[in-house]
Amino acid sequence: MILIVRKTTLQFAPKITLFPLPRLHLSTLSPFNQNPTKTLSQLDIKNLILSHYHHNKFHNLLQNVIALPSFLFTACHNLKPNDKTTLTPKTVSTHYFSIQELSSQLITNQFDVKDCTFIIGKSLVLPNLKLKVVLESIRMVLETIYDDRFMTFCYGGRVNMGRHTMIRYLKNNVENPSWWFTVCLNPSKFENKHVDKLCRVMEEKISDVALIGLVKRLFECEIVSIRLGGCYLGRGLPQECRLSMILINIYFNSFDKEIQELRLKTNRENPRVDANEVDNAFYKPLKIYAVRYLDEILVITSGTKIMTLDLKSRLVQNVEKNMEFGIDKVKTVIHSATSEKIEFLGMELQAVKPSVLHPPMSQKAIRARKKYFRQKEVRLLELKNAKETNRKKLGMKIFSHVFKKMKRGNGFKTDFPIESEVKVNQIFNSWAKELMRDFLESVDDRWEWHRMLSAGDFLSLKRIRDQLPGELVDAYDNFQEQVDRYLNPVKAKRVLEEQVKIAEEEEERKYSDQTVADLTKLCIKVEAPLETVKKAVKLVGFTNHMGRPRPISLLMALEDTDIIKWYAGIGRRWLDYFCCCHNFKKLKIIVSYHLRFSCILTLAEKHESTKREAIRHYTKDLKVFDINGVEEVNFPTEREVKMMGDNDLVDPKPVDSSLGMALIRLASDEPSYRCAAHFCDRRDTIVYRIRLLQNILNLDPFDRSKWVPGMGAIHENLNKRCIPLCSDHISEIYLGRLTLQDTDYTSILHVD
Ligand SMILES: [Zn+2]
Repeated sequence: MILIVRKTTLQFAPKITLFPLPRLHLSTLSPFNQNPTKTLSQLDIKNLILSHYHHNKFHNLLQNVIALPSFLFTACHNLKPNDKTTLTPKTVSTHYFSIQELSSQLITNQFDVKDCTFIIGKSLVLPNLKLKVVLESIRMVLETIYDDRFMTFCYGGRVNMGRHTMIRYLKNNVENPSWWFTVCLNPSKFENKHVDKLCRVMEEKISDVALIGLVKRLFECEIVSIRLGGCYLGRGLPQECRLSMILINIYFNSFDKEIQELRLKTNRENPRVDANEVDNAFYKPLKIYAVRYLDEILVITSGTKIMTLDLKSRLVQNVEKNMEFGIDKVKTVIHSATSEKIEFLGMELQAVKPSVLHPPMSQKAIRARKKYFRQKEVRLLELKNAKETNRKKLGMKIFSHVFKKMKRGNGFKTDFPIESEVKVNQIFNSWAKELMRDFLESVDDRWEWHRMLSAGDFLSLKRIRDQLPGELVDAYDNFQEQVDRYLNPVKAKRVLEEQVKIAEEEEERKYSDQTVADLTKLCIKVEAPLETVKKAVKLVGFTNHMGRPRPISLLMALEDTDIIKWYAGIGRRWLDYFCCCHNFKKLKIIVSYHLRFSCILTLAEKHESTKREAIRHYTKDLKVFDINGVEEVNFPTEREVKMMGDNDLVDPKPVDSSLGMALIRLASDEPSYRCAAHFCDRRDTIVYRIRLLQNILNLDPFDRSKWVPGMGAIHENLNKRCIPLCSDHISEIYLGRLTLQDTDYTSILHVD
């Protein structure tokens, strides 16, 4: 149904004139397109692509969309790191490659992929900048076509559908999980049969021989090389191409659809009962949940073990037969959600009672809270008393001052203008207001006044009243009524008592709700795998075998600022990645203590001083001064770390690419090269040598017993290669904001 609706919108969309340009501009090479001046907006791109949609297919996208100079320029812009400098089509054409030439190559289908690739070492095939722009353009087109068509549980490589969004879904939407399993693929590459199938799937929507041919060619030349079941995807490692994420999603779309059908079928058979109809605290409709992040698949059910087993074998069969990938049978087994943790996306999941996630306050905590409130009250009272004393003193002063003035001002002349003394007037006014407010708020004061004004007055005696004029008696009665109305303490007391009662009832209701929820509900707890993180920390050398911080000698060749930035980049990535975890506090300790002190020790050893001296110099916040003497704090401060929470829903990059690499400045004087960051034009660069962790430690990342499970590694052919970078971009790479994926691979040098 949803699909049909979408189709109709697609058919009608070209008629909507959202795109400001007439269609003629889009399909022909008008002067506008030959000289693009600005980038296309998301809406422009969408309308542009939709204008080539007819008869249920998109037609000739390579020729009519991708080849447009303005489209190619937008792709260039997407690749460029976010910074102050602006990119113009002219700079691209003069410094990098001619957009016009590329455009005409694409239109005439003469673009040679092989020509734009080069090989590093023996096996690492990489694209040059021109080809990267083409790859990005293809990705943009596919994203516009497919992003709306993917299932809601398909995450990764999509707009606003990252890891944290997925974790939030698991935490908030999954009810009462009982059994679950991950579908683990055997490590394998996209082979010809997979590529053919992928192309067939794409041909269902896209009628463009040239574009499909180009995608095939990219696989043939190994520019796009997808390895499933490993630790490569979505981590910013240079061997992965950005286009591959969306291709995986397109390939797995039919698998997602099968899951979705199963889910809908289950929902139909087990309808949700309206909460008002029956007491449904114990009624749990059977549900199936699924999430897929690229090649990682997790399926959760609230049903029986047998039903889950059935579901598993069905999905496994689908992957093996339709997707044509092998399954790791040992790892693809179902687990009880409550009794075992399951590993997914580098985090640990477990079903727990709600009280585990939000534990009720302990008796001790409640007592402490009460004590705190009492103390606050006492302090307030003291403050009030002090204010009153001050007021009295000041009042006396003012009086004596006025009195003196009157005396001097010729005896009994009473026209002394005290009313016109604005300041004094204001003071008295504000006092009066405050006094009245305090007074009306206080039950005791009102009680006192009520007693004084209403009790034992002789005007209430009948004998006296009879002898008085009627108006006076009426006025008196009226006055008594008003006193009762405004000052009667019984009413105020009742209100106060009511409030206390409501609070107590609320507390009781909460307690009973929580108890029932604890008995009937289960939710998902997400934890950071502390053991794995600790293992990684030890492997890199942040800590010694006792788990204490230690210096890393490799980094001593770096500038102080760069050492701190390297640590900061890793720390921030870890904090970003695990901020949604229940045990985030423990991870904070690793960053705030182990990483911070390892950094301090490295700095101390570099300058041959003690830890204490290093702390005195850099402070615990690791402050440094740049050339202009401006203070810089890159490592998250202790306070900052303390305040961090899970507010951020941006897809975080895992730490792998920062952790696995150090960039060491070359000592020798190199001729100046252009900065390797995409479209960075600076020539005041420094050459850095890439040192990879696995080579420094002499370990094989595929050796599971020694390497950290789940941690990816940069392709080892990049070890000891050199890369020129300007001061801005080396800083961005150290800080983990850029990865090697954001650099032009052709500028990688081989220096002995
Ligand atoms: Zn640069």
